[in-house]
Amino acid sequence: MIDTLELTAIPPEDEALRAEVRAFLADALDGLEPDERARSWMGFDAGFSRQLAERGWLGLTLPREYGGAARGHFARFVLSEELLGAGAPVSAHWIADRQSAPLILKYGTPAQRDFYLPRICAAQAFFCIGMSEPGSGSDLASIRTRAEPDGGGWRLNGSKIWTTNAHRSHYMIALVRTSGTVDDRHQGLSQVIVDLSLPGVSVRPIEDLAGDAHFSEVFFDNVALPADALIGEEGAGWAQVNAELAFERSGPERLYSSIALLECWLAHCRERDADAASRATLGAILSQMAVLRAMSLAVAGKLAAGLSPATEASLVKDLGTELEQAIPRLIGDTLGRHPDRPVPLPLLRTLAYLEQVAPTFSLRGGTREILRGIIARGLGLR
Ligand SMILES: Cc1cc2nc3c(=O)[nH]c(=O)nc-3n(C[C@H](O)[C@H](O)[C@H](O)COP(=O)(O)OP(=O)(O)OC[C@H]3O[C@@H](n4cnc5c(N)ncnc54)[C@H](O)[C@@H]3O)c2cc1C
Repeated sequence: MIDTLELTAIPPEDEALRAEVRAFLADALDGLEPDERARSWMGFDAGFSRQLAERGWLGLTLPREYGGAARGHFARFVLSEELLGAGAPVSAHWIADRQSAPLILKYGTPAQRDFYLPRICAAQAFFCIGMSEPGSGSDLASIRTRAEPDGGGWRLNGSKIWTTNAHRSHYMIALVRTSGTVDDRHQGLSQVIVDLSLPGVSVRPIEDLAGDAHFSEVFFDNVALPADALIGEEGAGWAQVNAELAFERSGPERLYSSIALLECWLAHCRERDADAASRATLGAILSQMAVLRAMSLAVAGKLAAGLSPATEASLVKDLGTELEQAIPRLIGDTLGRHPDRPVPLPLLRTLAYLEQVAPTFSLRGGTREILRGIIARGLGLR
């Protein structure tokens, strides 16, 4: 059931992190072009992730015994907001830090925690998420990839698709069928950690419209997995995946995908006297962004209170991606009102990049229609 989203303030001790991160980023990202900044959590730079790790900014919410900083969700919100706001290339560690580490902490055995979590905090282990398959995206329960019990371990066969960073990650947390058939739907699904260097794993990058190859197809041909590849309980994969998606759907990354364009356009407006239409566009964008930020923060507050606000997170993602997609269109229309005025090349490049990738914002992490189904269920409408 959906609950109210209370206005939530960031505690001062977490807000204090902002200045430190901002100062580091001003230096570390100096000279990065706006169209590169626009890639941000699609931008891969393992060296940059290591620099964050050296400052203790990976695994911020993990316990200290695993190399984490034992901070709360608000500190993580501040860090994420600064990284995304500046357009930092965070994709190398993003999934491991946001999703895989909390999942391993919650469901992993002591040995799994000891092995993976310190490596995630040190930016030595990058993860990808193997949920979608050819023919199974929105209807995730229909996946066909199977891990069969085999000599104390598992024998993995099947394939995944659209797997962000599979070609640059060390591990995949894959949702697979460990018993039953496709007709059993949510029953018989489990999560396994796949070491992507194992024999029988092949990865083929897919190029997107903008020419970037950030996701891949992954094939498993009789891959021998050890017994401890299973994470959590056998057959509990569906519940585990749904808990994971609450982390994935509510964060600032669902608001700021077009912020590099907004910054670049603002700088352009400041250089010339912005007309009334530009001011109105800016007002419309900022007023929506302020409300959505407050909602995202309220979801962080619920996570901090130990709740699992899956419906609220879906609401923030649906509305947030709508704004992210609207920004390139609004800015493009505003610039297009004056075809006689030259537009600086970096601004044009950033606009062109976002026009090409913006449709994916409402696909990745669950489509708009699927989220609205979840929200309707949360509201008791279906
Ligand atoms: C940039 C990007 C990165 C991604 N990264 C990953 C990743 O790292 N790991 C991973 O596992 N997946 C990843 N995905 C895949 C993503 O999760 C799927 O694309 C998404 O879930 C949709 O599945 P599909 O592509 O099979 O489309 P389909 O499920 O076939 O949907 C096609 C259209 O039909 C609509 N539709 C489907 N079912 C219904 C319904 N019941 N009611 C109403 N409408 C419906 C959908 O909303 C959509 O508009 C990524 C996708 C993108 C674009």
